[in-house]
Amino acid sequence: MSKIVRTRFAPSPTGGLHLGGVRTALFSYLYAKQHNGQFVLRIEDTDQTRFVEGAEQYINDTLTWCGIEPDESPAKGGQFAPYRQSERKEMYMQYALQLIKSGNAYYAFDTPEDLEAMRNAHRSETNPNPQYDAKVRMTMKNSLTLSAQETTALLDVNTRYVVRIKMPENELVTFTDMIRHEVSFDTNLLDDKVLVKADGMPTYHLAVVVDDYLMNITHAFRGEEWLPSAPIHILLWKYLGWENDMPNWAHLPLILKPDGNGKLSKRDGERLGFPVFAKKWTDINGTARGYDDIGFLPSAFLNTLVMLGWNDGTDQEIFSLAEMIKKFDMGRVHKGGAKYDYEKAKWYNQEWIKKMDAAQINEFVKPLFATENIDIKNEDYFLAVCELVKERCGLLPEFIPQARYFFEAPIAIDIDSIKLKWNDDKKNFFTEFIASTDKISDWSAENIEEYFKNLATEKNIKVGELQLPMRIMLVGAKYGPTVFQIASRIGKEESKSRIEKVLGILG
Ligand code: GLU
Repeated sequence: MSKIVRTRFAPSPTGGLHLGGVRTALFSYLYAKQHNGQFVLRIEDTDQTRFVEGAEQYINDTLTWCGIEPDESPAKGGQFAPYRQSERKEMYMQYALQLIKSGNAYYAFDTPEDLEAMRNAHRSETNPNPQYDAKVRMTMKNSLTLSAQETTALLDVNTRYVVRIKMPENELVTFTDMIRHEVSFDTNLLDDKVLVKADGMPTYHLAVVVDDYLMNITHAFRGEEWLPSAPIHILLWKYLGWENDMPNWAHLPLILKPDGNGKLSKRDGERLGFPVFAKKWTDINGTARGYDDIGFLPSAFLNTLVMLGWNDGTDQEIFSLAEMIKKFDMGRVHKGGAKYDYEKAKWYNQEWIKKMDAAQINEFVKPLFATENIDIKNEDYFLAVCELVKERCGLLPEFIPQARYFFEAPIAIDIDSIKLKWNDDKKNFFTEFIASTDKISDWSAENIEEYFKNLATEKNIKVGELQLPMRIMLVGAKYGPTVFQIASRIGKEESKSRIEKVLGILG
């Protein structure tokens, strides 16, 4: 029987979740769901020096906003709890000891001064950053250079130590990545990474392997920036005797800056004029906007992300989450970096705004009107207005200017634009129009248009010349759907009153 697919998203709570992180979560989620599997959120907080208060909650909130809820997580619990690595601290040491015993890891007692002296001694033009590796390890103070008794004696008196992996020499570590296919690393280029720190906490390298194993993870998705760490993890899987249970790896392509020059980083967002976070993120450096608060729909945000590195092989660009689950195909994820295109992201948002149904309008648009204290009259009216203007809104807050005049008469009126071509004929036309609206029994856009056009023909004025003044009378400015739709929607009395008011101003 094949194993249940279990994917994990394993962020470190070190700050706001960058959109690349959300894409990793999304791909991981899609893969799990399309295989009827489980999607796990694990918080990798072993590096206490980089821990940021609120970051875990922020990760939860982001996944909730996106609608990609984990099946197991610190907040939700699950069969493999705890899901926070700091709470699993006690579990890791036994595996470190197993590695020491099998000769694949060792205790290192070097002090910061020893390490500094090693770096100074080996630093050269060709080696600007000397590492603790096979070339130097036998000159250092560790359980490889000390006798067993000396090591035990140091441990007995609680000497500070770290545990390091003993990187083999002259080996090629090869594995198959779901996106990159066969990938190989020369172990001579790798250092003896720390597995357990002096505070007893495992490093990410040990914890990620142990937890992926203990949590039965079958597929591990992460960003390409983790590829250099992969050989360390592959070796640990092998040394711990778990090779047959190793997850399938997928190192997702980088998300690049819009000009293709390098990775889009957390710091880029505000500088490039668009957010890099799903939701607003605040820390000691200030507040960075998120797609949520600038007025993106989660569906549009996810659609933008899924297309960064994937397509379904057709021209289809719009995918709902349900469709993504159906059509997502790891075989079609490219390995090349994907340039981020904010204009395209806005286009997705506009497309998704056009597709919004009543429930979504109520969820995402109504609160904006409440914040502005706009009386939306009744729900049917509100929904009909939103239907009418939604194709003009690229971001949700644009509903306010696009729809406000349906609920309240405009305060600012662009009189100058009317005055430019105003004359007595037009004045007579509008005066007669409002005096004769009784002739339009059913105040529909079609009937208003028909009556308006007939009256214009009768008065020998071009309809085109009358629509701009009419628009400014009703809207205050030069935008919106057709004037007849607007008039019909705001009603006969309100239309008359707005026209009358402007006629009064024009004199
Ligand atoms: N904890 C790593 C991070 O912060 C995750 C790497 C992995 O998924 O293996 O992104």
